[in-house]
Amino acid sequence: MLEAVEKLLILQDHDRRLLRLQAELANVEPQRRLVLQRRSSSEEAFESARQAVLHLETERKRLELDTEAQKALIIKYSAQQWQTRKNEEYKALTHEIEGCQAAIRKLDDQQLEVMERLEAAERNVAAATEERRLARADTDAQILQLATTETRLQKQLADAQATRSEFAATVDPLLLPRYERLLKTKGDKIIVSVERGVCGGCHMKLARQDVINTQAGRDLVQCPNCGRILYYLAGMDVKHAE
Ligand SMILES: [Zn+2]
Repeated sequence: MLEAVEKLLILQDHDRRLLRLQAELANVEPQRRLVLQRRSSSEEAFESARQAVLHLETERKRLELDTEAQKALIIKYSAQQWQTRKNEEYKALTHEIEGCQAAIRKLDDQQLEVMERLEAAERNVAAATEERRLARADTDAQILQLATTETRLQKQLADAQATRSEFAATVDPLLLPRYERLLKTKGDKIIVSVERGVCGGCHMKLARQDVINTQAGRDLVQCPNCGRILYYLAGMDVKHAE
């Protein structure tokens, strides 16, 4: 195999490692977003459960005040009944008092219903509080873990980049730009083997002369179809190229 191609194969290994590390690093942020999403949805669930309780407590308070107001009216009408001497007026006041009593019964029923809903809402708050506590603990640990992973990957990436640059400096400077152009368009599969007379990258059948030239290992051969750099390992059968 041409020495320059051997070096490009090693460089390709470095680049594969770089790409893998970059992909892993790029995956950290979306994971962090998912974790934060879980956290904020548990905070929101807690907040809306708490709001439901506050709303019902306000409602209960309002019903209590309404009941008090009706009771006060009954006291007022009863006092007026004591003072009046007119039968019509007395009857009218009795009617008013009965109206107040009916209103109080209705308010009592409503209060009972609100109390039941309040109990359920308080149970929801307790569950949401527990869920929030768990989510906070879990997500704290996950965020910390992700930060550790991120730092480790950043360091590995920086190291890998340095090693790659160091190695790239030993590659034929005439070949390097050609390789790097391919790296941009073909990803991490640039230096490919010839097997059974076909390009290991695009799988097109190669001309016999290209296979022979690759096998000879004197010049750099690129696949005429995809442009990838070809190499040939001993033991591969050149006859398949025909
Ligand atoms: Zn090809």
